[in-house]
Amino acid sequence: MDKNLIVTCALPYANGDIHLGHMLEHIQADIWVRFQKMQGKSCYFICADDTHGAPVMLKAEQLGISPETMIARVYNEHTADLKEFGISYDNYYTTNSPESKELVYDIFKKLKDNNKIATKVINQLYDETKEMFLPDRFVKGTCPKCKAIDQYGDNCEVCGATYAPTELIDAYSAVSGSKPVIRQSEHYFFKLSECTEFLSEWINSGLQSEAKNKMKEWLESGLQDWDISRDAPYFGFQIPETDNKYFYVWLDAPVGYMSSLMNYCKNNNLDFYSLWNSDTTEIYHFLGKDILYFHALFWPSVLKNSGYKTPDGLFVHGFLTINGQKMSKSRGTFITAKQFVESGLSTTYYRYYIASKLGSKIEDIDFSLDDFVARVNSELVGKFINIASRSSGFLSKQFGNKLSNVTNSALLSKITAAQSVIAQHYQEREYAKLIKIIMQLVNEINIYVDETKPWLLARDEAKSSELHETCSTLINAFRYISIYLKPIVPEIVAQIETFLNIKQLQWSDLDTNLGEHTINNYTHLATRIEQKMVDKLIEANKPEITETTNAVTSQYEPIAPEITIDDFSKLDLRVAKIVAANHVEGADKLIQLTLDIGIEQRNIFAGIKKAYDPASLVGKHTVMIANLAPRKMKFGISQGMVLAASFEDKDSGIYVLEPHDGAKPGMRIR
Ligand SMILES: [Zn+2]
Repeated sequence: MDKNLIVTCALPYANGDIHLGHMLEHIQADIWVRFQKMQGKSCYFICADDTHGAPVMLKAEQLGISPETMIARVYNEHTADLKEFGISYDNYYTTNSPESKELVYDIFKKLKDNNKIATKVINQLYDETKEMFLPDRFVKGTCPKCKAIDQYGDNCEVCGATYAPTELIDAYSAVSGSKPVIRQSEHYFFKLSECTEFLSEWINSGLQSEAKNKMKEWLESGLQDWDISRDAPYFGFQIPETDNKYFYVWLDAPVGYMSSLMNYCKNNNLDFYSLWNSDTTEIYHFLGKDILYFHALFWPSVLKNSGYKTPDGLFVHGFLTINGQKMSKSRGTFITAKQFVESGLSTTYYRYYIASKLGSKIEDIDFSLDDFVARVNSELVGKFINIASRSSGFLSKQFGNKLSNVTNSALLSKITAAQSVIAQHYQEREYAKLIKIIMQLVNEINIYVDETKPWLLARDEAKSSELHETCSTLINAFRYISIYLKPIVPEIVAQIETFLNIKQLQWSDLDTNLGEHTINNYTHLATRIEQKMVDKLIEANKPEITETTNAVTSQYEPIAPEITIDDFSKLDLRVAKIVAANHVEGADKLIQLTLDIGIEQRNIFAGIKKAYDPASLVGKHTVMIANLAPRKMKFGISQGMVLAASFEDKDSGIYVLEPHDGAKPGMRIR
């Protein structure tokens, strides 16, 4: 019996944009799925938005909308982005769905019945202003180890230490700015500590060696029970028989794989349970190395102990770097899918480039813009597409687009002989290797053109049949290469199918040649990348990408020309209290601030979005220039400016000024 494949990507979180790093994973999986489908396999490609948790709840609150409204908005953006990049999900759903709820409840009940759930009273930081328990990421303070300020509640970005949020020095709530207190709360735990034996067995199936080694480390250091509950207020599914407990988002996120498939099954008259649990079904998850922990420890253990089939493989990838630099969300050094599309660059070319660098190992992938331009222009456009344009003209002019039957061609035999090794590389996700092989074949085809010189044959009527044979060989060769490349650049191959007058190129077509088939007239198939498009992309994301070039030599600006005390006294600088701070819809850099300066309140747009979460600013004091002429901006009038410190390139951060304790709103700085 033929196998069914269930293939998933990690669920994008519903509080932000899909960026090129996410897209690497969707592309990696999409290529694999398209390959499987071309082979005639039955394959379900499944994903969803991950919608629950405190970050979604708080962001929606900042935007002044309900979480449901926000996740619906984000869902539309995410699905549009994925479509632009040719990601062919059979179902893209949401974890905030009836199917998710049904499955989460079912799994929880079975875990309980299996005695895998325990409750325990824990100490947790509580924000009395906001009346909520604080997730680790929403507590900030001074690192207990290295004393670096402004670190998160779970780990220090400076020294790398991990600790409990209660250990932070001078902890404050990133939500309200207030000092949190310790409160007790009863939490639900999944008894992961009892799963060591199962996991030690499970890691022998379908893990890359690096992932397996990591798992062994975790297993050897001992597994802790996993806290799967959160207190209200929380956006998620309520735990049955409680009135203020919710399932932690990481419990219901991977269940989203199942619920999206369940939704697909409902719409396509299939039985979800027998599909998921069948012996002939194989389940594969594509994911980034940062979430291996959840997928390799919790997820299989939860499935196993609730009676569901466990994954057959985890395909883990590294991070995307851009021009050799690590992307960082907090520093804003990422290019969103949307920005990429808006730059006018082809998403198909991005697919090709990423594929040309991807292998099966957990390694970081660099998106080097210069290399991107060079490779796409030389390989895809210059060498591959050129095969069609170099041969099609003669066929249309002299032979009415009808091919001759090529029966004995060493070139074609060589190309088709590579099919099993290319297929094996696809299967093993060694895309870089297979592209190398394909491009070697493309080189040989171009050498064949140079040697047979069809442009000379065309001048000699006696050589008409030789010309016909040469051009027909080239079109057959072009067709084979198109089959090989179809999973990677489906959009271009769809146009090629029209040109070749073929409905759908399949892998099995590698065993046939076109015979006396009639093709269509050649139309333009692919355009070279122009440098100005890449420049536009860089421009839109400045200064993140260019920082390495000048940061070392010139971070200090020269001192400005001398002024007198009279010049200085013209500036009316005031202590201001930030009474409200909000994101500005549609603005990439701005936060809207309402400032209290004693005599009145001011509306200010400050370019600090990259550096601050608005919620963390509320309640703090700062300094503003109060007599600056109001400025009309796209989003409203800005009545002054907040003072902030930065180096010129702003890459090493933007720091809003804050007076010492005791300063009152309205005090003048002199
Ligand atoms: Zn530290």
